[in-house]
Amino acid sequence: MNVKERNFDVIVIGGGHAGCEAAAAAARMGAQTLLLTHKVETIGAMSCNPAIGGLGKGHIVREIDALDGLMGKVIDQAGIQFRMLNASKGPAVRGPRAQADRKLYRDAMQKEIFNTKNLSVYAAGADDIGWNDAGAVSSVIADDGSVFSCKAVIITTGTFLRGIIHRGLTIEEAGRVGEKPSIKLAETLYDLGLPMGRLKTGTPARLDGKTINWSVCSEQPGDEVPQPFSFLTDKVIVPQISCHITYTNEDTHKIINDNLDKAPIYSGQIEGTGPRYCPSIEDKVVRFADKSRHQIFLEPEGLDDDTVYPNGISTSLPVDVQEQMLKTIPGLENAKILEPGYAIEYDYVDPRSLKQTLELKSREGLFLAGQINGTTGYEEAGAQGLVAGVNAALKALGRDDIFTIDRSEGYIGVLIDDLITYGVSEPYRMFTSRAEYRLILRADNADLRLTQKGIDIGCVGQGRKDMFLKKQGQLDQARDLVKNLKMTPNELENLGIKVNNDGVRRSVFDLLRYKDYDFPLLEKIWPDLKNIPLDIKEQIEIDAQYSGYIDRQMADIKAYRREDNLSIPRDMDYTKIGSLSNEVRTKLETIKPETLGAASRIQGMTPAALVSLLRYIKREDNLKKSA
Ligand code: FAD
Repeated sequence: MNVKERNFDVIVIGGGHAGCEAAAAAARMGAQTLLLTHKVETIGAMSCNPAIGGLGKGHIVREIDALDGLMGKVIDQAGIQFRMLNASKGPAVRGPRAQADRKLYRDAMQKEIFNTKNLSVYAAGADDIGWNDAGAVSSVIADDGSVFSCKAVIITTGTFLRGIIHRGLTIEEAGRVGEKPSIKLAETLYDLGLPMGRLKTGTPARLDGKTINWSVCSEQPGDEVPQPFSFLTDKVIVPQISCHITYTNEDTHKIINDNLDKAPIYSGQIEGTGPRYCPSIEDKVVRFADKSRHQIFLEPEGLDDDTVYPNGISTSLPVDVQEQMLKTIPGLENAKILEPGYAIEYDYVDPRSLKQTLELKSREGLFLAGQINGTTGYEEAGAQGLVAGVNAALKALGRDDIFTIDRSEGYIGVLIDDLITYGVSEPYRMFTSRAEYRLILRADNADLRLTQKGIDIGCVGQGRKDMFLKKQGQLDQARDLVKNLKMTPNELENLGIKVNNDGVRRSVFDLLRYKDYDFPLLEKIWPDLKNIPLDIKEQIEIDAQYSGYIDRQMADIKAYRREDNLSIPRDMDYTKIGSLSNEVRTKLETIKPETLGAASRIQGMTPAALVSLLRYIKREDNLKKSA
């Protein structure tokens, strides 16, 4: 693609998940933006599993969407199996997930990128960065000799920085399979003196679905009514398919154990640390030696593609061992490998060198987002891309404000705060347990938490803004209605609804707090309720059912925002806070932080420990005051 313009406000290096969100967000902010990436065809490519969302990750996608990002809209056009994980549990931990048709996803993402105003694309590798006399970013130099000037740069190079692929004892330099690594750009970053390290991740073999014996595997269908990710999508119209499940067994584990000397993670060939929560099959067999089987999800990669992704058996064992392993697994005895599994090692930059805006503390105008910051996953990458994109645009456009999300506003805030405060010791992925305000940070209310913030800063387009304001109006109206429609216990009893006969009038909202009463039942008494749209009813039901807890969490959030500077007494006795782990207590006793904010930035401090600490200080304070 030819780009005539050589001067840009923002240049984004890398067209993966972080890069696409970064480029689109900067462009939505009104910055003239260039997406500089190796190949146009790989924009939006899914390097590993063809799926978006899941527990914690699904929340992030909804938040990206609330800020008018791309990922939610794109997966709605490409999802071939939607499932609400934890559907039977409380709304806070429900995680939307969708299996993607890899090709449809890439195509839809490319369409979004090419249709974004203010955004140009140029296919080349970025080799170097130019600086002005004041030490700020001023240009990017591509490997074909092109020089593009700019005021801010966002690097989103994923696993490409000095990437090395391992398959058994075979080593190959690559950014991911079949693609060259980024060597020169890595050298540029080393020359800047940035703190860098090595991480690794892995992927399973891709199988030919025509050679799988599906009849012995159990079928896993998706949800009957697929629930879209984007607040803008009415209905998913992509055809839906089933996945299947099979298991490894002791024969599989024996083959793995017999060949551990050829596994790069055990032979010492790989230096980088891998994701503990997403281990390779050889890692699982060693670490969980007492388990006689491990689950494998057989996930089709597309509607018109026979490739199958066996989720759960990522491996870097030699190809012949991968083949032997498959022969022991029910359904996969004759499965043909289309692309063997592999592990990849790559450079990352210690994210503690970043500000909350994802700009480097030491280099003005240079932002980093995605896997380069030590995370793993499309969603984590996309979220960082969006935040970096908005902030790079603010900087390039000469605006004084910055865009940040705090831990009480979104999972994106939790992600960025964790990265820049604690750094990473292994590839970081999101879990709901990382967030302390889970009841508030739900997937269903991401728009109510973040869209207004996006409108205020300028990254939300008119279409979404109109829709959001309409929803907000409907919600306010409905909240008034459910709080004002009331009856006495006697009136309710005459209509078959039994409540404590205490003379207190109960509103619709009060009744929704009880498990036995819901909108369909209460509409028979108050027909006006029928006019409330379904999504608004869902919000109100959640608000009512969890109102006590939500109120308490809202109070915690207010305190958190107010109390970052709260003093901790020098002689604080941490043994009195029973819920602190020994590790956290020892750290607090050694470091003796002066404020809650300082305590929060101690490495290894958990969100739950901080909330306990806050509650304890407040309680002691109140006791002193009342004494
Ligand atoms: P990517 O999506 O990798 O995109 C990087 C982009 O930058 C590419 O388009 C590339 O061409 C471009 N680029 C790189 N260098 C340059 C340059 N110098 N100039 C121009 N363009 C450049 N995630 C999980 O959640 N779980 C897993 O189990 C998992 N396993 C993985 C296994 C493998 C083998 C790989 C490769 C990835 C795996 N991932 C996994 C990670 C997931 O793919 C990434 O987290 C996600 O893609 C990161 O997004 P990103 O935008 O940071 O980088």
